[in-house]
Amino acid sequence: MPTRVALIAHDHKKDDIVTLAGEYADTLRRCELIATGTTGARIAAVHGLTVERMLSGPHGGDLQIGARLAEGEVDMVIFLRDPMTPQPHEPDINALVRACDVHNVPCATNISTARMILDVLKLRLDATI
Ligand code: PGA
Repeated sequence: MPTRVALIAHDHKKDDIVTLAGEYADTLRRCELIATGTTGARIAAVHGLTVERMLSGPHGGDLQIGARLAEGEVDMVIFLRDPMTPQPHEPDINALVRACDVHNVPCATNISTARMILDVLKLRLDATI
């Protein structure tokens, strides 16, 4: 079964997640990707990756991803949060990060951690060719 990766980035972090997705495009192409609406649209448009798009984050997309995760359908989360800007859907953001902790799902909230997780994912996928 392909690894299921969730991708989310707040507005000031969207350029970063698009760049990151480009760096790891070959790895991500071998995964099932889900994303919040705008993040997913940008990654799909720029890199041609197939991304299942949920609602936009402020409209419930984080909660949709959290629900999938709670049902065991998400293996890792890349969630580039903007720590400098208050978000209207802060409770939803906290709920998703909490769900990761409850279900022991790796969750990267900054680029350094995201790279570490994706590096391990790449190694694992390369080892199973
Ligand atoms: P977006 O949602 O990808 O639809 O912008 C992300 C968020 O703000 O949680």
